[in-house]
Amino acid sequence: MMNSHILIVEDEAKLAQFIKLELEYEGYQVTVARDGLTGLANARAMNLDLILLDWMLPGISGPEICRRLRSTGDKVPIILLTAKDEVSDRVTGLDAGADDYIIKPFSIEELLARVRANLRRTQEEDTDLLQFSDLRLNRSTREVYRGDRLIELTAKEFDLLEYLISHPRQVLTREQILERVWGYDFMGDSNIIEVYVRYLRLKLEAEKEQRLIQTVRGVGYVLRELRD
Ligand code: CA
Repeated sequence: MMNSHILIVEDEAKLAQFIKLELEYEGYQVTVARDGLTGLANARAMNLDLILLDWMLPGISGPEICRRLRSTGDKVPIILLTAKDEVSDRVTGLDAGADDYIIKPFSIEELLARVRANLRRTQEEDTDLLQFSDLRLNRSTREVYRGDRLIELTAKEFDLLEYLISHPRQVLTREQILERVWGYDFMGDSNIIEVYVRYLRLKLEAEKEQRLIQTVRGVGYVLRELRD
């Protein structure tokens, strides 16, 4: 979090400079844009972790920048900086896709707290690491560990385990599993699920570990620890 890159889009030079210094003091990397068009261009060109976006800007307004970024699928957290008389309009800002807003004048402590909260939220959402019991699955490296043991899985075995571990303790029906892992147009034998569950269990329990993939008779499967 120390090196998160934050863009400030704010036309009031003194305020922008003040926020920049405070954020830099906290260890963030900061870029300042002083008008809407530059802000939008920066937001598109830079790999940002968060944007502090003033509402009223020369060129394009804050909510409009927000809308344009969201329309191209950009999910960067955006906190709108809103003057008091614009507060009644804040729904417009949230509708435009902002994550949060702060009313001017604000204390720097409040701003820093909001920045931390919004960064934390996205970093948690973005995590590629899924864990259940002593099982860990990394979506980006496609590595699976049981305790310290690296487990080699085929692509389909990985997909099936990823689906199960994304829905811990939730019973997944055979239909759901087929659709999600093999696709709607899968025409093969639906026993394929049993076959792959068996492969997975052999690999996950190779050292006599506790069973995690449980059969729910007549329904499907669930990732769950057996209670003694
Ligand atoms: Ca302004």
